[in-house]
Amino acid sequence: MSRMFLRTLRDDPADAEVPSHKLLVRAGYIRRVAPGIYSWLPLGLRVLAKVEAIVREEMEAMGAQEVRFPALLPREPYDVTNRWTEYGPNLFRLSDRKGNDMLLGPTHEEMFSLLVKDLYSSYKDLPLSLFQIQTKYRDEARPRAGILRGREFIMKDSYSFDIDDAGLEVAYQAHRDAYIRIFDRLGFEYVIVAADSGAMGGSASEEFLAVSETGEDTFVRSAGGYAANVEAVTTIPPAPIDHTGLPASRPVETPGTPTIDSLVSHLNDAFARDDRPWTAADTLKNVLVMLRHPDGTREPLVIGVPGDREVDAKRLETQVSPAEVEPFEDKDFAANPALVKGYIGPVLMAPGSGAVLGAESSSGIRYLTDPRVVDGTSWVTGANVQGSHVIGLVAGRDFTPDGTIEAAEVRAGDPAPDGSGPLSLARGIEMGHIFQLGRKYAEALGLQVLDHNGKLVTVTMGSYGVGISRAVAAVAEYAHDDLGLAWPAALAPFDVHVVVAGKDQTILDAGSQLYDDLRGAGLDVLIDDRPGKVSPGVKFKDAELIGVPITVVVGRGIVDGSVELKLRASGEREDVDVADIVQSVVDTVRGSGAS
Ligand code: ATP
Ligand code: MG
Repeated sequence: MSRMFLRTLRDDPADAEVPSHKLLVRAGYIRRVAPGIYSWLPLGLRVLAKVEAIVREEMEAMGAQEVRFPALLPREPYDVTNRWTEYGPNLFRLSDRKGNDMLLGPTHEEMFSLLVKDLYSSYKDLPLSLFQIQTKYRDEARPRAGILRGREFIMKDSYSFDIDDAGLEVAYQAHRDAYIRIFDRLGFEYVIVAADSGAMGGSASEEFLAVSETGEDTFVRSAGGYAANVEAVTTIPPAPIDHTGLPASRPVETPGTPTIDSLVSHLNDAFARDDRPWTAADTLKNVLVMLRHPDGTREPLVIGVPGDREVDAKRLETQVSPAEVEPFEDKDFAANPALVKGYIGPVLMAPGSGAVLGAESSSGIRYLTDPRVVDGTSWVTGANVQGSHVIGLVAGRDFTPDGTIEAAEVRAGDPAPDGSGPLSLARGIEMGHIFQLGRKYAEALGLQVLDHNGKLVTVTMGSYGVGISRAVAAVAEYAHDDLGLAWPAALAPFDVHVVVAGKDQTILDAGSQLYDDLRGAGLDVLIDDRPGKVSPGVKFKDAELIGVPITVVVGRGIVDGSVELKLRASGEREDVDVADIVQSVVDTVRGSGAS
């Protein structure tokens, strides 16, 4: 440590909110360059290398072969699949000196497909799985939490190539098993959840989420074994209701009721029901958003949800991807006079007028409703007139949406879509994603091989990612306490940290002897040999902050032939005879499962 390139910091970085970010910066593992862009310092690089090694080992064990593509890529392949456009503002685009468009790869389906197309031509060449561990670039809208969501980050991505669906299923399962081994070894609590296949197209898809309060993903679980990212949860729609005999809808004056709460209390004051009070669930809330399509065009969209539910931003984003969601602003209201802020509804309740939203609308604005808004359900909703609502507007009779959208929030207690019981919610960090891509990319790029009848068939693909740099942060989210980081043995930058606590020559000599002996035993050793003006107290604090699993303190006890062995995570400590210390450390390291 007297020569190591390291400065630990006393204070948290000003922009840091989550523990991993604070501690990785304070303990000298990473250093910020720009938002979402970080440098790796010697300590951090060692942890990163360990994550990489675990992932590489397990990928090779399942038979995948490593390659490495450039990060700097030409535009053409991404034009063929339309991702040059579809990736929208998340793609880093640039041009070379001749004016050719280039990009920094956000993910590499195109390049892998073309490489296999280039070299392979027969079913006999398949199955094949290739992987790389490489830097990816995405101009994320909200880079966050240090390396947890970066704009430059390291990913392991792999791709499987098969002649048929059965082959893809086998490759998918093999990846799934490998991921289980990887995440078991990385040592955090994780769940495997059904994922939305989203913009990538394709079918079966699962995510590996590290269970963590600081995660950006919300997932649901049922006691009966259902688990999914909220983005993938589907609603069981109620059965349609026969609406013959339902009273006609009637417009009512509801001045000053632009919110659901104000509307419900006004309904109960002025239009009390006989059977029960009005509740928010009786109202149909129409939420306006502006979609920005990848080609830059903007489109207003109205989403109708039961008034007791909010629109979930992430579920909505998933549904409309690759379009992005922007707020609907006052200037947008001005441009769409049919929409009256606070009183929006599918029908204009005025003489001689009709549908404002939905299939038969005059405004041309798309109207999508929650799946619970089935034919025959009756709602209180906006009348498109300032200060007015309509009571008893019946879906399928008085209005017809353009379709349904799974954008309403999922709540604890909602039924699991597979009937396995009520859902509970928790948060997680997406660590890995496995995905049956199918033939979408192979088709677009013409990746075909001859089958055993000599006929050309399109290859089917899987795509599989692990966030390597994100894993360093995700482990740190678990492996820390108030004093600092506390790495599991498998990822720690060093096996053991020797603290030389004292200025006496005997102590210094014993310290460096111990350093040599531990290294001789094949261990990675960090020694705090900083000179006497760095007090033992400062050294202990730094050792706690850096978080190597085992510390050996060489101090005054050395005159009696004893040193102290401390375990960072549990805080356990014991005095050990200096003659036995190397063996003790070796046993502790072995016992912890690190190699
Ligand atoms: P997210 O929903 O978190 O943005 P994603 O669905 O975009 O992730 P994939 O495209 O499936 O992610 O990428 C594979 C893996 O790469 C993810 O599971 C995650 O671990 C990692 N990853 C994705 N984006 C980032 C990022 N901005 N910073 C760090 N790691 C990332
Ligand atoms: Mg993403």
